[in-house]
Amino acid sequence: DGPATVKELSSKFGREVSEIIKKLMVLGVMAGINQEVDIETASILGSEFGITVEELPPAEDPTEIPEIEDSPESLLPRPPVVTIMGHVDHGKTSLLDAIRQTNVTAQEAGGITQHIGAYQVNYQGKKVVFLDTPGHEAFTAMRARGAQVTDVAILVVAADDGVMPQTIEAINHAKAAKVPIIVAVNKIDRPEANPDRVTQQLTEHGLVPEQWGGDTIVVPVSAHTKAGISELLEMILLVSEVQDLKANPNRLAYGTIIEAQLDKGRGPVASVLVQKGTLHIGDTIIAGTAFGKVRAMVNERGEKLKKAPPSTPVEVLGLSDVPQAGDILVAVDESTARAVAEKRFAKKRTDEMNQVQKVSLDDLFSQI
Ligand code: GDP
Ligand code: MG
Repeated sequence: DGPATVKELSSKFGREVSEIIKKLMVLGVMAGINQEVDIETASILGSEFGITVEELPPAEDPTEIPEIEDSPESLLPRPPVVTIMGHVDHGKTSLLDAIRQTNVTAQEAGGITQHIGAYQVNYQGKKVVFLDTPGHEAFTAMRARGAQVTDVAILVVAADDGVMPQTIEAINHAKAAKVPIIVAVNKIDRPEANPDRVTQQLTEHGLVPEQWGGDTIVVPVSAHTKAGISELLEMILLVSEVQDLKANPNRLAYGTIIEAQLDKGRGPVASVLVQKGTLHIGDTIIAGTAFGKVRAMVNERGEKLKKAPPSTPVEVLGLSDVPQAGDILVAVDESTARAVAEKRFAKKRTDEMNQVQKVSLDDLFSQI
């Protein structure tokens, strides 16, 4: 149930704290006794001891909106959503920029690109969505909130530096989320680059490249010279075709908040990845404790959109409040929106009041 500390895991697993810490080190996680371990790491750890770790199902919540069931016939192909992961300074941001630059068409190039948390590229007539928030932290934070947004993980490993602790963490997180990994061996332009050493190291972590008889796709790239970028995009398309990604575009929208902030002039601004259904201007929406009507939608090129089908990242205006990254956004009929938002708001207030009461009682007792 949620994150647990190393100490709690030690008593739950019936193992010494030192044993837990050692195992965590092997997994590339440096942890102290009171450190919180997320559910994914805990389940990997559990499997090391032959224990299955299960997350408790969330308690029944009257403020939740029931999910719409989509019939198999209603499902149509949708573009893949990709997250870039890897060790710090291995080139995640550079690679995102290189992919973006090499795939804007001439007329788009003049437009002002905006950072809305994700962007779409067109490669050989096919769309691919990239989440702009690199790193496994954003990924895990979203997963912890129940949001599954990624179809493919690109693991960036610098050819001159090799597999590092955060590389291993990224591998573990992608595996726990059951997301296929494509390895991009970056910085191959550097004189110190040693891609063979990277391949060797990856094999030690269970990623055996195709060239060596395994099933991991490894693409050598350079974010600086742009070498290998098209091959990488081709491999993403290949892997996502195998996944047979589909969604029903003809229903009320369902998506995830990628990021959100309060804009002085425009009010609450939320970047949403639409995952099911189509979001339209004028739709009544609810996200966390915020609700409203879609007043405007803008893509990463600053273009205004009237509708956003599945796998479209859009910036949405019109919410009453700033939702949190990882919150689910749904389009609903207006009365549902109000009722649910009020219930959620009331729940938030009760939670806050309980918090205050607890503190003041504690204060009281400490004075006796
Ligand atoms: P991040 O921390 O993973 O996002 O890494 P960055 O994209 O910020 O890159 C870290 C450093 O590596 C920067 O100085 C980049 O200019 C450099 N870098 C990234 N990709 C390449 C590459 O393909 N070749 C070379 N030579 N340098 C690179
Ligand atoms: Mg970066």
